[in-house]
Amino acid sequence: MSPFDTPEAETRGTLLTLDLGALVANWRALGARAGTEAGAVVKADAYGIGIEPAVTALSRAGCRSFFVAHLSEAVRARAVAAEATIYVLNGLLPGQSAAFARHDLSPVLGSVAELQEWAAFRQGNGAVRPAALHVDSGMNRLGLAPDEALSLAGDGSELVDAAGVGLLMTHFAASEDEGDPANARQIAAFAGIAAAFPELRASLMNSSGHFLKGCPAYQLTRPGYALYGGNPTPGQPNPMQAVVSLQSRIVQLRDVEAGTQVGYNGRWTAKRRSRLATICLGYADGYPRNASGTDTVPGGTALVGGVPCPFVGSVSMDLIILDVTEAPENAARRGEPVTLIGDALDLETVGAGAKTIGYEILTSLGRRHARRYVGV
Ligand SMILES: *Cc1c(COP(=O)(O)O)cnc(C)c1O
Repeated sequence: MSPFDTPEAETRGTLLTLDLGALVANWRALGARAGTEAGAVVKADAYGIGIEPAVTALSRAGCRSFFVAHLSEAVRARAVAAEATIYVLNGLLPGQSAAFARHDLSPVLGSVAELQEWAAFRQGNGAVRPAALHVDSGMNRLGLAPDEALSLAGDGSELVDAAGVGLLMTHFAASEDEGDPANARQIAAFAGIAAAFPELRASLMNSSGHFLKGCPAYQLTRPGYALYGGNPTPGQPNPMQAVVSLQSRIVQLRDVEAGTQVGYNGRWTAKRRSRLATICLGYADGYPRNASGTDTVPGGTALVGGVPCPFVGSVSMDLIILDVTEAPENAARRGEPVTLIGDALDLETVGAGAKTIGYEILTSLGRRHARRYVGV
């Protein structure tokens, strides 16, 4: 039976299979590895997996702390996780306090202005859940500078108290690169700040942080990518279970002679007599156009009957052309499924074929796919 033989998938060109059992297993494995509470980063629609199914599955498994980027994402998480603490990493934008309170959400405060605005709101409206304080330990993106944070500790702590801060956090800039000396500097900077706020819980580890030697776990971790099967130790075997697989179908086959130009603007030329298969997904389905395979730069790959087949020519809006000359004949047939993500095609390989990273592949997963959730 073809995986497309379901009422939803039969009308579509692509099928996304999402293994929520693997998601939960990855969350448990990361918590066990850290030896502390693991939260879950579910921003960007849980990295494309679907925020409601992901938060529901993780809540049932015991996850109590979620992180999103935008307030709107927090509202969606709250709808399926009534009890959880839900932190909004992008912080408090002017005038958002009432909306945070209405949904019982926790801003990640990253400036004195944000602390003041949230503290003033809390004064008039009583206690809400603890907020988080973001300290910048070297990324220069979000958060208070270390000196600024230290000046708000100890005797100067009224503002942090008034804002109801319960969690101190910072974010790594290069934790996937074990050899980057910035990691040790960030670990040391954050240790100094955490020591100045002994009454607060602290959070440092993102996915790769769990695998970084000498990285303290503190009281809460914030994995994202690894939960969804991304490799937190690039270049080494992936310790996580695969969560995402993406399949499409062959619409047409053709044989072309050596010298034939293929696709928009003829950017790929057959070097031998070749069998080509056109499959029904493209950049409008979230597969980057940068995965085009040209005469000079190789692009993405699909598995046809388990055999890697290169993209040839430009990725179109709704179609991609594969060179299936080497694929088994019984798989390179009209209607047969091909794999774009899954099995040998892990997220890092797919990202490299599109000149990007696995994170961007995941978060670009389109709205056009049929979705099948398994492992629940
Ligand atoms: C996105 C994000 C994370 C999760 O990072 P991963 O590398 O996906 O594990 C953790 N903390 C912050 C502040 C983030 O922005």
